Amino acid sequence: MATTTHDLFVTGLKNAHAMENQALSIMKPQTSRIENYPDVQARLKKHMAETEVQIQRLERILARLDEDRSSLKDLALSVAGAFAAVGHAVAADEILKNSMANFAFENFEIAAYKSLLALAGASGNDDAVADLELNLNEEIDMAEWLDQNIEGVTLKFASLKEAGETAKK
Ligand code: MG
Ligand code: FE
Repeated sequence: MATTTHDLFVTGLKNAHAMENQALSIMKPQTSRIENYPDVQARLKKHMAETEVQIQRLERILARLDEDRSSLKDLALSVAGAFAAVGHAVAADEILKNSMANFAFENFEIAAYKSLLALAGASGNDDAVADLELNLNEEIDMAEWLDQNIEGVTLKFASLKEAGETAKK
């Protein structure tokens, strides 16, 4: 039996919902271990708040499509495998590894929303486009912020190391 583009869109929305919950579980532990990097901490907290709203937008779209919210929790976290190390590293250079992994994750999210927007258009679900674009733009902003801060965070880490401080505090 053929799979319709509409079905692909619904599956993509459910995958995005799982992705956003994964995003929260990746960011949350990081916010308590980076006292030396208040800018990163503040940006992560801001993006966690944005992510909560992103999840609500996805749930609104799914509700309009008559997709049962309870089916979401059974979905496998396909993203988890690709980013297994994200947020769990306790290495001395944790801040650097997390900065790189966060950048990778945000770009994964950008690709996911571009794919969803293509499917929304192709399946006639134009009423979902505005919300998906809001999510996409927040991921682009976060990816750009991370992009602009990788060098600064790295040099701060290096100077703390030279001063003999730990990476965490
Ligand atoms: Mg997101
Ligand atoms: Fe994000």
